[in-house]
Amino acid sequence: MAEYETVIGLEVHVELATKTKIFCGCSTKFGARPNENTCPVCMGMPGTLPVLNKKVVEYAIAVGLALNCDISRYSKFDRKNYFYPDNPQNYQISQLYMPICTNGFVNVTAGEGSKKIRIHEIHMEEDAGKLIHDDEEDVSLIDYNRAGVPLIEIVSEPDMSNAEEVIAYLKKLKTVIGYLGASDCKLQEGSMRADVNLSVRPVGKKELGTRTEMKNLSSFRAISRAIENEKKRQIKLIENGERVIQQTRHWDDKKGESYSMRSKEDAMDYRYFPEPDLMPLIISEKWIDEIKANEPEMAEQKIERYILQFNIPRYDAEQITSEKKFTEIFEETVDLGANPKKVSNWIMGETMRILKEEKDEPENLNISPKHLAKLIEIVDNNTINSSVAKDVFLQVYKNDVDPEVFVRENSLAQVSDAGELEGIILRILSENPKSVGDYMAGKKKAIGFLVGQTMKATKGTADPAMVNKLLTKLLNGYGN
Ligand code: ADP
Ligand code: MG
Ligand code: ZN
Repeated sequence: MAEYETVIGLEVHVELATKTKIFCGCSTKFGARPNENTCPVCMGMPGTLPVLNKKVVEYAIAVGLALNCDISRYSKFDRKNYFYPDNPQNYQISQLYMPICTNGFVNVTAGEGSKKIRIHEIHMEEDAGKLIHDDEEDVSLIDYNRAGVPLIEIVSEPDMSNAEEVIAYLKKLKTVIGYLGASDCKLQEGSMRADVNLSVRPVGKKELGTRTEMKNLSSFRAISRAIENEKKRQIKLIENGERVIQQTRHWDDKKGESYSMRSKEDAMDYRYFPEPDLMPLIISEKWIDEIKANEPEMAEQKIERYILQFNIPRYDAEQITSEKKFTEIFEETVDLGANPKKVSNWIMGETMRILKEEKDEPENLNISPKHLAKLIEIVDNNTINSSVAKDVFLQVYKNDVDPEVFVRENSLAQVSDAGELEGIILRILSENPKSVGDYMAGKKKAIGFLVGQTMKATKGTADPAMVNKLLTKLLNGYGN
């Protein structure tokens, strides 16, 4: 059997974080009542005219610059004609011939090394409404709130060869766009949507194979499984002497398989033509310079600064900058005077662990820097020990409690008063003559049980090192 390699290119739609829609003043707010955010323009009423939202262009340019694109000084909108009930105009305003950004690239780390993924173009367009199929009533309902929400579509070159690279690429886009504040890029909520174009070819062959496009991939896991599945499906077809048909396929993540939605349409089918209701877009050097000057500090720059300014390992800096939210917590907590490495440890350790366990999104984190700084302080000054600190952190994570208040109210402060601790230990010793006897008889390991009992008696709040020291001292003096 020949060996095959997989070739993948992505079309990624990103909903921009503007307050209003791309061609009208309607709100883009998520969660409104159906059809609340609509007007004659986004409902496609005859005679209405679109007015371009400047912020959309600004975001598109900012993303283009961050992804190393050329920014078109002259670009145009085009009409993509198709009939579908979620699209009241019967056409979508998009950009086909002269997109706003072209010819970019982004470097991603996947597997051993870094890989350059080229970006063919970024264009601006409007989103469609949402159809809701109600099987019970046997009707389809339409919500036009999303109609006219601004999107950018980022089209990559077919430069990826496996799921790992695809996910690294998507995470990179999410990070960059998140830093710019242009979108929150949530796959699950649909503010980022990735269509995966995939083909296979025998290793060594230059020509690309016929591709399929997979839609409806709303998690990294689904993307991974869909890629694996489609790769196998195509190889099998070829091995059986059949042909891969260029088509759009819908991934059913529950069933773990894809099915054909339609054979791939050509640009021709859409009867694209220049949008007559909008002027060509001319972008001045001055505006581009302004957008460049306003670019916030990005991950790469933060990594270098963190290493220099805070003296934390590169690994830490890379982990923290992988999410904008982590950098905010890190920087603000350090600003309050906390030790940078300790802050980093809480973020890389417990924060990431609980996030994973709870399947939470970093942007929803609710840890206030003030409370994290406080927690670090009370560990440093030995008010609590490190295992209690983890319990307290969980409360900071979940309810953003004030660690000091929480420790006081739950009597978690470390028993570090030697006199008090000695009293407790003496009681434990008298209650456990067998272990004491074992210890005296030379079974030094018996001390472990006694430490455990003491920790239990103090509800885990004692300083374990101190317990050990006192126990040894008291045991050694015991028989005398
Ligand atoms: P269309 O406009 O018909 O959708 P494009 O040329 O814009 O086609 O390509 C869409 C996406 O598919 C791009 O991301 C591109 O990199 C990718 N792509 C194109 N050809 C292939 C192929 N043979 N195998 C894998 N991906 C491909
Ligand atoms: Mg395309
Ligand atoms: Zn509107």
